[in-house]
Amino acid sequence: MARARLHLICGNCGCNDMWGYRIEPQGTDIDGELFPAVYLSCGNCHTLHDLSDTAKNSNPGQRLSSHNEG
Ligand SMILES: [Zn+2]
Repeated sequence: MARARLHLICGNCGCNDMWGYRIEPQGTDIDGELFPAVYLSCGNCHTLHDLSDTAKNSNPGQRLSSHNEG
């Protein structure tokens, strides 16, 4: 297996080392149904990037269990 080398660069400010992420259990609305979404936040310019804008969901039917909500 190749050594993982992923580089993230903020398209707004160019920062590449101040990332944070969060998972929103109902962050993506697909045809009225809510699915989990992953957001990357730039710690430099505070832009919130939706990961699905760049990467495909490899398991689109996946739902997070409802007891995590709230
Ligand atoms: Zn940025």
